[in-house]
Amino acid sequence: MSEQEQERLILDTVDKFLQKEVRPYAIELETSDTYPDDIVEQMKAMGLFGCIIPEEYGGLGLSASTYAKVIELVSREWMSLSGIVNSHLIMAYITLTQGTEQQKQHFLPRFATGEIRGGLALTEPNCGTDLQAIRTVAKRDGDDYVINGSKTWISNGIKGSCYALLVKTDPQASPRHAGMSMFLAEKRDGFNVGRKLKKLGYKGIDSAELIFENYRIPANCLIGEQEGKGLQTALSGLSLGRINVAARGVGVAQRALSESLSYSQVRETFGQPICQHQAIQLKLADMATKTEAARLLVKQAADALDRGERCDLEAGMAKLFASEAAVHNSMEAMRIHGAYGYSPELVIERLYRDAPLLAIGEGTNEIQRTVIAKRLIEKYPV
Ligand SMILES: Cc1cc2nc3c(=O)[nH]c(=O)nc-3n(C[C@H](O)[C@H](O)[C@H](O)COP(=O)(O)OP(=O)(O)OC[C@H]3O[C@@H](n4cnc5c(N)ncnc54)[C@H](O)[C@@H]3O)c2cc1C
Repeated sequence: MSEQEQERLILDTVDKFLQKEVRPYAIELETSDTYPDDIVEQMKAMGLFGCIIPEEYGGLGLSASTYAKVIELVSREWMSLSGIVNSHLIMAYITLTQGTEQQKQHFLPRFATGEIRGGLALTEPNCGTDLQAIRTVAKRDGDDYVINGSKTWISNGIKGSCYALLVKTDPQASPRHAGMSMFLAEKRDGFNVGRKLKKLGYKGIDSAELIFENYRIPANCLIGEQEGKGLQTALSGLSLGRINVAARGVGVAQRALSESLSYSQVRETFGQPICQHQAIQLKLADMATKTEAARLLVKQAADALDRGERCDLEAGMAKLFASEAAVHNSMEAMRIHGAYGYSPELVIERLYRDAPLLAIGEGTNEIQRTVIAKRLIEKYPV
């Protein structure tokens, strides 16, 4: 089977699953903020928690490009599901690219089956963007480290059991990043889960506080078994994370467009379908153009990642553009749907509540612009 045929097969399988098992239940699960346990079990069985983990470690070994298409499909139906997979897979990607062979052998096969699921624990109550300001500290004690501090807004914080955890191993270090390290931290004594946080959208998936009180972790869980590399380790997962967030943006933007295209052909005012009014046509045209452009930016970034090239510029542009496309399209879809867009009985108001997260997560869009500009200046010096 050719690579394209294999990709088609995977996308068809995922789409059938989404239409049968997710679409009928998403609105109810979302409005009641219920974790989709049954859906997650099916996602495990399909191997989605091992999407980008190589086959030698028990995963599906999909390219970033195919993975992005899977995430687009998932996010068209319910963006929260993509979050359950994404932060888990960033943890897996970091383990794959920065971990020791022993860490890969130990963790990746269990990440791939979804037996161990989790995510990324970076943000703290006092800082998100400025990660070098974190206060969680790990102190060496014999063959272990002892960790104290807290994290917040951690996706999969309640339902997961293992996190790529960013800490300070030397809080006095200068520059600050030289004192940062990252661990693969599994829940056990001293690792406590705080509140489930309330949110505007992105419901169903749990966002929680994690609290570490004299949490003891073996030194061989330090990713790469080298202190002082934590920030680089965390940032190494960012390109994949940004491609994922961008793909979610394409999914949300596409759903807003598809719903609007259908609705505008059946809703009539002044004796004709609203799609015949030029004001609505302008909206549909802009929504479709933004969606297609976002999809192409995602493809460009994912293809570069698959070729093993540096792709922070491409991933940053894709994330910025696609997330803004999602925000734009969801608002326009609400206008096109009129009062019905404002009702929880249709999907539009969910898209409208989910989309803004994409402008905040994986580096805010303000930071994204500064990253893009810095990279451009570096790439094209005079
Ligand atoms: C639903 C949800 C899920 C999340 N999941 C996770 C997770 O799984 N793991 C995790 O670690 N975190 C997670 N986060 C946290 C998220 O990554 C942070 O919210 C994000 O990094 C921004 O940090 P902040 O909220 O502290 O904002 P701040 O860093 O306080 O920024 C506030 C504002 O200032 C701007 N700003 C900051 N610095 C600059 C600058 N230098 N130049 C220009 N503008 C600047 C920002 O763009 C923003 O507009 C999640 C957040 C949410 C809402």
